[in-house]
Amino acid sequence: MKKHTRPNPSKNIKGGILEKEGPVHVSNVMLVCPGCGKPTRVGHTELPDGSRVRSCRRCDTTFEN
Ligand SMILES: [Zn+2]
Repeated sequence: MKKHTRPNPSKNIKGGILEKEGPVHVSNVMLVCPGCGKPTRVGHTELPDGSRVRSCRRCDTTFEN
C-alpha cells in the first residue's frame, strides 16, 4: 500500500517543493485505489453491522485496515 502526501508549508521552508512524509491525518491522505487505480478521496462507509470502513469515493471499493 502506497501513501503519498505533502506536508503543510511551515515557516522554515524557504521555497521549492519538498515531498516527504508529514504529520497529516490519515483522512487527508490521497491513496491509490486498488479498484479504479487512481488517486482518490477516501470516504467512510457504514456497514450493516455498524462498523465503519474507509472506501473509495469513485468506485466504492472498501479498504480494509
Ligand atoms: Zn476506486
